[in-house]
Amino acid sequence: MNQRTHAWIAIRAAALLDDEQDRSGIATILKQFIKSAAVGAWFPDRRDTKIGGADTDNHVLKMEPYKGPQQERFTLAKTELLKKLGTARKMYSFLEQDKVLDDAWWARAYKANPQPGQHIADRVGALTTTITDLLIMGDDDLAKILPNKYSFAKELDDKCRTRSEQAAMYLFMQSHFVADACMPCHCDARKLSSYANGLHKELESHWSQKVGTYFDDQHLEATNNTPEAILKKAKEVDQTFGLNFSNAVPNLVEQDVWLEIIYICRGSFAIASIIAPSDQYAYHTKTFAPFAQVLDSRPDLLAELDRVTMHDAVLNVAITWKHLWSRLNTKQ
Ligand SMILES: [Zn+2]
Repeated sequence: MNQRTHAWIAIRAAALLDDEQDRSGIATILKQFIKSAAVGAWFPDRRDTKIGGADTDNHVLKMEPYKGPQQERFTLAKTELLKKLGTARKMYSFLEQDKVLDDAWWARAYKANPQPGQHIADRVGALTTTITDLLIMGDDDLAKILPNKYSFAKELDDKCRTRSEQAAMYLFMQSHFVADACMPCHCDARKLSSYANGLHKELESHWSQKVGTYFDDQHLEATNNTPEAILKKAKEVDQTFGLNFSNAVPNLVEQDVWLEIIYICRGSFAIASIIAPSDQYAYHTKTFAPFAQVLDSRPDLLAELDRVTMHDAVLNVAITWKHLWSRLNTKQ
């Protein structure tokens, strides 16, 4: 997704947590520094922030048919994947009703081939653990918001303790990777899903046009709007995508954020294979599926794609944040 789409997804997810009946402290942190979503949710895609990783590997999990050993590890029947995803995600009903992918497609093994330890689920898992640790080391202001007391934080030099604005920035950064997992082209190894090959970039431009310029970094950073007004603006985008959110953010289905991202990526890969079916756009070929070719003549599919991707990107970010916060609540 583009900068403004990433910013909107993060802000909309913060609004979901802010609207929850049993609103938690994480909503307070995010809301207070909501403008920093303009930078935080986007900087993982800036070129110089990719130093130290395998370039874009940790933004993707690009799958393809797999013929190597342990095939059962990389095979997941449709009913099993749906169970893992849970009904709160729109991906669930989209895949459940799909008729493009037949039983033979679902019976095959699919695997990505990233640099060891450098794919998107690793990145989200690592950030979840690291941000949890950094929150525990919070300064006095942050400590007032945290659900538990951590006495050792007092022993640290104040300058070493995490401030709320840093916590918000790290959380927005994490949202980037969760949102990327929901982008079908990030999970499909075919050349047609590469950024400049006519589907990926154009789909992202299509979404960012719908999100609108309010969420551009320069605009958000300069605005005098209150956090309340910014959250309201984010909710107004819902109608553009036909979104309807429940006021309750569910918990992780699997209680393991790494696994959950893997399942979301498998769902996104299935969606990429519905947009450009593999019998017409085979694996390991250079056949492209330009946006105009696969989506212009299927406005219903495009509208569904908009709704499913944006709904789930927002919800998955909120679910991941809620999960992270719930880890701070575990009794010692
Ligand atoms: Zn990215």
